[in-house]
Amino acid sequence: MDDKKALTRGEQLRKALLYEKKNAYEQMDAQQLEAMEAYCTGYKQFLDAGKTERECVERTVAMAEAAGFRAFARGMEAKPGDKFYRVNRGKSVVLAVVGRKGLDQGVNIGAAHIDSPRLDLKPNPLFESDELAFLKTHYYGGIRKYQWVAIPLELHGVIVLKSGQVVRVSVGNGEGDPLFTIDDLLPHLGREQSKKPLSEAIPAETLNILVGSRPLRDDEGSERVKLSVLELLNRKYGITEADFMSAELCAVPAFQASDIGFDRSMIGAYGHDDRVCGYAALAALLQLDTPERTAVCMLADKEEIGSEGVSGMKSAAFDTFMDDLCAAQGVALRTCYEKSFCLSADVTAAYDPNFAEVYEKNNSSLVNYGMGLCKYTGSGGKSGASDASAELVAHVRRVLDEAGVVWQTSELGKVDAGGGGTVAKYMAERNIDTLDAGVPVLSMHAPYETVGKVDCYMTFRGMAAIYES
Ligand code: MN
Ligand code: MN
Repeated sequence: MDDKKALTRGEQLRKALLYEKKNAYEQMDAQQLEAMEAYCTGYKQFLDAGKTERECVERTVAMAEAAGFRAFARGMEAKPGDKFYRVNRGKSVVLAVVGRKGLDQGVNIGAAHIDSPRLDLKPNPLFESDELAFLKTHYYGGIRKYQWVAIPLELHGVIVLKSGQVVRVSVGNGEGDPLFTIDDLLPHLGREQSKKPLSEAIPAETLNILVGSRPLRDDEGSERVKLSVLELLNRKYGITEADFMSAELCAVPAFQASDIGFDRSMIGAYGHDDRVCGYAALAALLQLDTPERTAVCMLADKEEIGSEGVSGMKSAAFDTFMDDLCAAQGVALRTCYEKSFCLSADVTAAYDPNFAEVYEKNNSSLVNYGMGLCKYTGSGGKSGASDASAELVAHVRRVLDEAGVVWQTSELGKVDAGGGGTVAKYMAERNIDTLDAGVPVLSMHAPYETVGKVDCYMTFRGMAAIYES
């Protein structure tokens, strides 16, 4: 007889019937761990180079061109193995690798967003108060305002002169650059403020960025600090105060991506939501040879404010690109869409033991348990959710399992605790079967968010499996 004792009936049943969630590290060999580190190094570089959607687009185009992609123009041919990209107004980008099958057989799409919560400058931002100069902001996306005070900030964006000349601004990311900050109340005088709810403690109109304190010399007039700042800006960028009106300047946290933990198992950075999935969708596409079905990577803007606008996922720019691509093969767009699949790659909330009360643990995604598949997002009662079909979830289960991708299910916290959305429903509205999936994040939307490296890597592997399915 065998040395091992025969399994008891209960043990047999447990093994056969129960779903057991396993930490991804239990399932990784040395080679995979090495590949994970290499992948995460590339991701950290992507984060440090792209702190706004515009910068992410530039970095994406550079990476795509290095991998043999060409800008796609209407009327071009689209043959198997062709690699294309198209930039929409500098703020979003779509890339495609043409498959062996025709576009009438549909495409596999990975859709993520490359905008992240931040503080935008108002059209008339610069003011002086009591000999300190500030820039007024209007926050972009769902931020917890108290997190944005007393941290170092950088300023990124463009100022477009009346002539149309585009002046690029990037202060804080370069060697020896100054930084900016928003001052906070000292605890010694915070007795009244401390009694307020978090959402009211820092009013949006106090999110003013400190940009100068030195008055113009040899001058008797008013606003000498503001004038001195403007003189510096004029010298550096050739702008006057009125030029702020046609500018898009964003204050973002001045944090570089870093390993987190003694074991370096996590990455802390600004903008994981959703560059962590955007990079996964991009990196997986760039390494494709010629897939069966055409693979498409969509990196959208404006998700954080509802996918609105000409560069958001609601924009027809995506349909126009797809229509142009279909036209190259004489295929009707609707024929392509109805057979297509989209993985809406966006981050999900990682279970946080420090705030256990807002999660339902059985249905939350855990750090290091792999890519989180989310059948529906939305809020209480599935409001605003795309809610993928059981058939679709089964399809993705099969694809990921066959590729050896570690994945888990995910739901955004307790049913009535809050909620959120992604680009999924805008893809589904196009008659494209769509499922949400992505990396679980701790401190989502904070200036410094945290993810597990193994989850980043598994999401990349998952995207690759989808493109090749
Ligand atoms: Mn997101
Ligand atoms: Mn978000």
